Amino acid sequence: MAQQNLPNGMPPQMVNSRPPFNTNMEKPPLQFNGIHSSHSSRDSSPSTRPGQQVPPSQLPPMRSTIPPSQLPPSRSPTNLINQKMGQLNVSNSNSRFNTSTPNQTLQNPSGLVSAFSPINVPKTDNSAGNQVFRQQLQQPPPPQQPQGNHSPYNSQGQNRTLINHGVPPYNHQIPQNQVLPNSQQTPHVNYNPPFQPQTYQRPLVNNHNQAPPHFQTMSQPKPVQNNNPVAQGGFNYNAAPNMNMPPPPQTQFKTNLHSNRYPQSQPQQPQPNMNPPQFYQQPQQQQHSVTQHGFNKMWGQDHVDLLQTPNILPREKVTPPKVYLGNEVLDSANCSPEVFRCTMTKIPESNSLLQKSRLPLGILIHPFKDLTHLPVIQCNVIVRCRACRTYINPFVFFVDSKRWKCNLCYRVNELPEEFQFDPVSKTYGDPSRRPEIKSSTIEYIAPAEYMLRPPQPAVYLFLFDISRLAVESGYLQSACAVLLEELKSLPGDARTQVGIVAYDSALHFFALGEGLSQPHEMTVLEIDDVFLPCPDNLLVNLKDRADLLTDLLTQLPTRFNNTYDNSSALGPALQAAHKMMAATGGRVTVFQASLPNVGPGALTAREDPSQRASTEVTHLNPANDFYKRLALECSGQQIAVDLFVVNSQYMDMATISGISRFSGGCINHFPLFKASRVLQNERFERCFRRYLTRKIGFEAVMRIRCTRGLSIHTFHGNFFVRSTDLLSLPNVSPDAGFGMQVSIDESLSDVQSVCFQAALLYTSSKGERRIRVHTLCLPICATLTDVIHSADQQCIVGLLAKMAVDRSMQSSLSDAREAFINVAIDILSSYKLSLNMGNGSSSLNAPQCLQLLPLYISALLKSTAFRTGTSTRLDDRVKAMIDMKTKPLSQLIQIIYPNLYPVHNLEEQPIILNSEEEPIPQPPHMQLTARCLDSKGAFLMDTGEHMIMLVCPGVSTVFLNEALGVRDYVSITDEMYELPVLDNLHNQRLHQFINYLNDEKPFVATLHVIRDNSPIRIEFFERLIEDRLENALSYHEFMQHLKTQIK
Ligand SMILES: [Zn+2]
Repeated sequence: MAQQNLPNGMPPQMVNSRPPFNTNMEKPPLQFNGIHSSHSSRDSSPSTRPGQQVPPSQLPPMRSTIPPSQLPPSRSPTNLINQKMGQLNVSNSNSRFNTSTPNQTLQNPSGLVSAFSPINVPKTDNSAGNQVFRQQLQQPPPPQQPQGNHSPYNSQGQNRTLINHGVPPYNHQIPQNQVLPNSQQTPHVNYNPPFQPQTYQRPLVNNHNQAPPHFQTMSQPKPVQNNNPVAQGGFNYNAAPNMNMPPPPQTQFKTNLHSNRYPQSQPQQPQPNMNPPQFYQQPQQQQHSVTQHGFNKMWGQDHVDLLQTPNILPREKVTPPKVYLGNEVLDSANCSPEVFRCTMTKIPESNSLLQKSRLPLGILIHPFKDLTHLPVIQCNVIVRCRACRTYINPFVFFVDSKRWKCNLCYRVNELPEEFQFDPVSKTYGDPSRRPEIKSSTIEYIAPAEYMLRPPQPAVYLFLFDISRLAVESGYLQSACAVLLEELKSLPGDARTQVGIVAYDSALHFFALGEGLSQPHEMTVLEIDDVFLPCPDNLLVNLKDRADLLTDLLTQLPTRFNNTYDNSSALGPALQAAHKMMAATGGRVTVFQASLPNVGPGALTAREDPSQRASTEVTHLNPANDFYKRLALECSGQQIAVDLFVVNSQYMDMATISGISRFSGGCINHFPLFKASRVLQNERFERCFRRYLTRKIGFEAVMRIRCTRGLSIHTFHGNFFVRSTDLLSLPNVSPDAGFGMQVSIDESLSDVQSVCFQAALLYTSSKGERRIRVHTLCLPICATLTDVIHSADQQCIVGLLAKMAVDRSMQSSLSDAREAFINVAIDILSSYKLSLNMGNGSSSLNAPQCLQLLPLYISALLKSTAFRTGTSTRLDDRVKAMIDMKTKPLSQLIQIIYPNLYPVHNLEEQPIILNSEEEPIPQPPHMQLTARCLDSKGAFLMDTGEHMIMLVCPGVSTVFLNEALGVRDYVSITDEMYELPVLDNLHNQRLHQFINYLNDEKPFVATLHVIRDNSPIRIEFFERLIEDRLENALSYHEFMQHLKTQIK
């Protein structure tokens, strides 16, 4: 990995001074690579210092000096920072997150530099890299550039499409662009660089964004026969009208998706796209004519001045940007962004272009998400590429009725005859009718060849900590009660097995043998060399022994009430679990309340509570590798270990979480848990109930493939990397998310689109072997403007958070924080360059698609995972980091930046209808700042698993009486955890809205209604992260800081 991180042209010492983000993630030698990466986040630690409430009045933050703790590297004074920035901007493009360029090495110092040469990068820096850079600037542009076709138009791929025409356009979808004669294109090409700039470019964007008429025609799925040139020509004529539209910004869009199936057939022409868009070099006068501005707005390419826009958050929910492939059929077939998402909706055609944008390239996937609509098919032959094993998908090309061309490796494969059979209509015909070709997400019921052994039964083992701290927390009552209620709902068939083990300083096994009238407890005191006290009846058939299990779960909560054993033998208990389940695999659920302190895997307290607010955090990494090694053994036997941590003291999350991180498990954390605390207990019970009843996949592996020219080099999530791209997941759950970093190894300028395909092979709880396949197709683009405007800010934030966790563990927390800030600076600098704005500008511009990025980054810097200066328990921080690595994006964004809504006037808000035709009010999203609060309002903050409603003193009596069902303001107690159900509009709307929010969550969030004058209001105000908190900058101050750093 080290190589990857080294930015080209950087002198080695520079490199050392800024540890790249990924450092070791790349393809590390072995299996351990994906692993380092998991840490997570949860808002679990309330500020512990009393009296630190944030006065709401702070709002429009005054310009205050920036606290030293917030400055990027605490050690470097500002000028040093500037200098570093300068270096980074010019020559060290990947140092920030070392996002994208894995393969650059010092040996090739000039590569990066030349990449930048086209752009006017006005850096004054003494670094060697920069000098090289300057030289390059003075040289004539690289040979490819001079082609007349710089205009966005050309690069658009229309020319290329032409080239492709010669190729048999046999496709089930209509080969659209293929027909454009050169002569037609010519008029649109702007050869005159000075004019090209944005005016011409914008129009193109229109074409595809709008799905203009010609696209619609194209989208009619015409079966295979469309290689008739005449027809194609006709097609193009349709397109012609669009050409007159104002030029789109995103010229790069290549309409003919299928041409990439014939990359080799393209004549070697200089690629116009390779040229740096010339307009970057030219000062743009009249940049913003009225017309231009209008188009910018229309196509979402307008930019905003972050310094002048305090209310940056859109009123509506931020939705993922759409991917446009220029073909409605393909667009509608593409994978849902909720399942598969890339940090960009267009892939830069080269690594150097990616570097210029400074954006990280990666994908986030939520592969086992609960789906309401999932095509499932059973067939004898699953059609896959013989070379790369890609599953056939909507983006392949049909050479003729018998052959298809793989869209990942371009091999031509035979099509089995039965593929012409449509299992839905049960008729023979065009292969494009097949579900595999119509949907990017599909599930196969796998034939026997996909099984190494017969599918195993669902096996569930529960390990209960019964040490003194555990008993005192009271978790056992709650856990056993929920388990008892849900025993029958555990996913599985008639073979399902269940077992229970308890542990303190000893291991307590429970035999549930046939004929026993009650569970038989066996205590094993020997924990240094664990053995099982009896060969069977420890894991028993759920149906057959339901009575004994019920008996045991009823007795267990009180059975150890009188023990005062302070020890917790977690390690030995896990070893015993491994022995019990080795034959079948399955799921181990561990409830841990205290620091494991005896037997193998024993730990000592490492946290120094006096250092909880310091800027450097130690012990983020495991104290030993016991849990990781055991996890790998479990993984080998198809056993996943999940943790429910209900600790009241330090229990070394960083170390014991290894058991879940490497076995494909999950980690749930309930810090300072006491069953007597209503909210905590509710959340615990709901979380555990969801856990027990949610879908589960056993014996799973996931492989991610991508089009030739790209490579996936770093994995984030809980799993074990078995071979370079095969993730071993003994269990997979619908609540698990994963991330991968992607690099561009080869030029993609000769293809129109690229694909990522994730295939998840698993055994269902009913004992079926299944394969769930998701394919995401993205177009290629060739200009910096296109790249920047294709950014998916939420996805970028999701990926950056994962990379920052790795950086924290491999280097330091302050490095990770610095990298966050640098990313914001880099991206905004890159955008500024692309606009060619002078240095004198007083604005801080961001493209619309990235306008929230600085906000999210400032929120991340204040998150439990990455904050400094605020007292944060180490376990809470580590868990927050684990969440960053493993939560699906939608949940992660909500953790980073909770949603805030006014709820005192829901009956006046616009409504939408849900599937049951119930009206759902849609209040606006509010910025997380007290400035937006109103003393006459009530505000609901939704943090994901918990909602807080703040009721201000001036709120109307009607709202109090009818919506909340209380007599007056002071009647709201500190223990108001639910809303009454009343028969009036205010109350109904409030319930409808809250239910609507809950519908999107894995389980119903807890609710706390609090008064604005209650001491617990701190819970609400500490989440107003745009305001100045303790030592952390307000959002506005952060923007000012960024402004000073962008040259
Ligand atoms: Zn292939």
